[in-house]
Amino acid sequence: MGLPKVDVIVLGAGIVGVSAALHLQARGRGVAIVDRLGEAAGETSYGNAGIVQSEAVFPYMFPRDPREMARGALNRDPRAQTRYSALANVGPWIWRYFLASTPDARQTGARALRPLAARSVAEHEAFAEPAGTSPLLRKTGWIKAFRSERGRQAALAEVAELKPYGVGNVVVDRAQLEALEPHLSGAAIAGIHFTDPSTTPDPGALVKSYADLFLARGGRLLEGDARSLEQSGAGWALTTAEGRIEAADVVIALGPWSSDVFKALGYRIPLGVKRGYHMHFGAEGNATLNRPVMDAEFGYVLAPQTRGIRLTTGAEFAGRDDEPSPAHFDRTEPRARQLFPLAERRDSELWLGRRPCLPDMLPVIGAAPRHKGLWFDFGHQHLGLTLGPVSGLLLAQIMSGETPLTDPKPYRAERFG
Ligand SMILES: Cc1cc2nc3c(=O)[nH]c(=O)nc-3n(C[C@H](O)[C@H](O)[C@H](O)COP(=O)(O)OP(=O)(O)OC[C@H]3O[C@@H](n4cnc5c(N)ncnc54)[C@H](O)[C@@H]3O)c2cc1C
Repeated sequence: MGLPKVDVIVLGAGIVGVSAALHLQARGRGVAIVDRLGEAAGETSYGNAGIVQSEAVFPYMFPRDPREMARGALNRDPRAQTRYSALANVGPWIWRYFLASTPDARQTGARALRPLAARSVAEHEAFAEPAGTSPLLRKTGWIKAFRSERGRQAALAEVAELKPYGVGNVVVDRAQLEALEPHLSGAAIAGIHFTDPSTTPDPGALVKSYADLFLARGGRLLEGDARSLEQSGAGWALTTAEGRIEAADVVIALGPWSSDVFKALGYRIPLGVKRGYHMHFGAEGNATLNRPVMDAEFGYVLAPQTRGIRLTTGAEFAGRDDEPSPAHFDRTEPRARQLFPLAERRDSELWLGRRPCLPDMLPVIGAAPRHKGLWFDFGHQHLGLTLGPVSGLLLAQIMSGETPLTDPKPYRAERFG
């Protein structure tokens, strides 16, 4: 049995797919989202730290300082963890990441990312308001905390580098930090308070509310396996739990799973993952946290969320589908307990997420080079919650032949040859 034909099928109901669907729908297209879970925000878009990082400027680069690289290789850099048994699998991607992490690429990446990140809060608000979930976007900003004098100097250098980009921030000393976050321990001696970003206590609920808005506006969210995508006549077709669906256009927005579909169509785009874990905790006594705090030297984030204090880890280099490992989280938790009086663990097991990453840490947004009606919107790395809505806008503008909000060239798939 077939479903009524739509104009566009969006594959993936994370923040990226839902956002693209809303923007296409706003342009009068009939849109169906297909996700294997049959619901929105069941994967990476559920478990992140919840920061809409409008302050983001420079992409996350692989370290190039030999001492830092040696520490990383020996798993002595607490911000990242490499699973040695996965190296044969992920080593070639890490090497490409290293090669792409030049000082020039950092500047080029910043010029590309900035116009998107700068609009990220406004684009979230444009969804949250009609969705009725504006209270899920808190105007708290977030704090990058430093433990040492060296860290404090790094903070000052970072702020100086950010100045030309007009990023709102305040460098805070211990007393100011205490005024903002009374329960942070003395381990944190200084910080940068990024004042412009919004933060959400429940990224999953926020994205689900955007999906509900899409449904209320006449969209469909279907359960189905994107790997069943095939060319059909002048367009595309897919099998869903409710039947076969066809459309002239299809958008791949499957986050870390995008490669499952684009590879089968012959594209060799180097999509890798940086995995990360989370766990929720109670707080001792009356301790509270008002906004997310990142421990800069140890690379984790403590974020006040609906289920408790969510501790998210930095990057684990392992295969996308490898079994979870508690190693990185177990190294991180004691550091987090030094910073904030965490109480009991609230989840029975660690949540594992996968940041979908290209070696230049920029997403792929735009037309697939060799297939009519095939569009890409994936690879949003550490910033998918941030960039999802504005990426959806950019893609919808490209698909509709409108003047795009920024030059889309840095995001084209062709950059990988
Ligand atoms: C620990 C951690 C902390 C983070 N913190 C932040 C943060 O504070 N701020 C920020 O901006 N970003 C953050 N990120 C990054 C952000 O979460 C991701 O970049 C973003 O969620 C990616 O969204 P997505 O829609 O591309 O992918 P996903 O949310 O993973 O969505 C992909 C969808 O595809 C579906 N799918 C997969 N395979 C198939 C298939 N075969 N058929 C049909 N459907 C399929 C999945 O079910 C899923 O719903 C963090 C990430 C992690 C891991």
